Amino acid sequence: MIIGVVKETLSYENRIPLLPETAEKYKKLGLQVYVENGMGNSIHIEDAAYIKAGAEIKSRAEVLQQSDIVAGIRKPADDKILHMKAGSLHISFLDAFNEKDLLNRLAEKKINSISMEFVPRITRAQKMDALSSQTNIGGYYAVMLAASHLSKVLPMMMTAAGTISPARVFIIGVGVAGLQAIATAKRLGARVEAFDTRAVVEEQVQSLGAKFVKIDIGETGQTKDGYARELTPEQLEKQREGMKKILSQSDIVVTTAQVFGKKAPVLLTADMVQAMRPGSIVVDMAVETGGNVEGSKLNQTVNINGVTIIGEANLPGRAAVNSSQLMSEGILVSAAYIIASVLFIVGLKKLGSPESAKTGNALSALGMFIAVAVTL
Ligand code: NAD
Repeated sequence: MIIGVVKETLSYENRIPLLPETAEKYKKLGLQVYVENGMGNSIHIEDAAYIKAGAEIKSRAEVLQQSDIVAGIRKPADDKILHMKAGSLHISFLDAFNEKDLLNRLAEKKINSISMEFVPRITRAQKMDALSSQTNIGGYYAVMLAASHLSKVLPMMMTAAGTISPARVFIIGVGVAGLQAIATAKRLGARVEAFDTRAVVEEQVQSLGAKFVKIDIGETGQTKDGYARELTPEQLEKQREGMKKILSQSDIVVTTAQVFGKKAPVLLTADMVQAMRPGSIVVDMAVETGGNVEGSKLNQTVNINGVTIIGEANLPGRAAVNSSQLMSEGILVSAAYIIASVLFIVGLKKLGSPESAKTGNALSALGMFIAVAVTL
């Protein structure tokens, strides 16, 4: 079986789905690994490192035409669908809710696909949880980027020439990204407040030394998978009203609010941004799914009345070495479980007839071995 990787085509995507050390692990599982020439360039990995890990360097078309599994970061580009063979498997983020046409084209070509967004957000699946591994780095970078734009330091400083008060940071949405943003801002010495519609996160916010902001917006809660429920327009209005005072006092605001499968809620209207202090910084981490901030622009930094709004889509890509490493491992585990399940199912079927029972035993044992190997 061959697993292949090719360069991403989206102009602002610099992460890669396979590192040489992960290529070695595929080899140990018995797979051949095909890598498009120059694939690691964006994070300074030479083709030679892949060759040393046992992979083969090929042209883009060769990788796509010959691989049984193609791994990527973003949804497949047109040439992938064109060249990949029927019955092969594509693994990447897919944005499946918004990409019906793409899903139809994949189905027409009989290309199976795994959308990394649909890996269950449960402890047992954590190794494969690419959403978490990536937004964790994004949350860190949101604060770093905001801090680098702010004309203030974040910690309190007591100097002979006077005392500098700590910067005030407000994090809206306390999932994986928000928690990392809180932790990063705290580490830098800021005074941090946070809000989420899921009241269960209050304790997590406090455990990081930040203050949970309480806004009464009525019944909220979360789905059985832990995702926020969508607010009604009236609830959203109450939330905006309740955030105004804190916004007017904040130096940095990071918005991370998402509702799974839906457009991101607009939490800061243009009026609210205009009422903020000139010099303050807003990072809209939801910019790619519609944005939490009115006026934020995809991959642009805009200035409204002295307030800087950063709409950078690929914040994990700011630390592309780390995010690629985590993505690469998440894809490896997902691919390995799929291979293990297929071997196991085919093996079980073969056990049904005496002529193929021996092969059935061998296949299901191999499936078990792979599943155990990636779990440990
Ligand atoms: P997400 O990206 O879907 O949303 C980010 C945050 O925005 C969430 O905390 C959500 O509640 C919040 N939000 C939505 N609407 C909002 C609004 N109007 N105002 C303020 N905040 C709003 O979330 P995520 O980081 O992907 O996490 C989703 C869930 O998965 C969480 O419950 C998380 O704890 C859980 N999770 C579990 C594991 C695990 O291994 N058990 C791993 C990762 C995540």
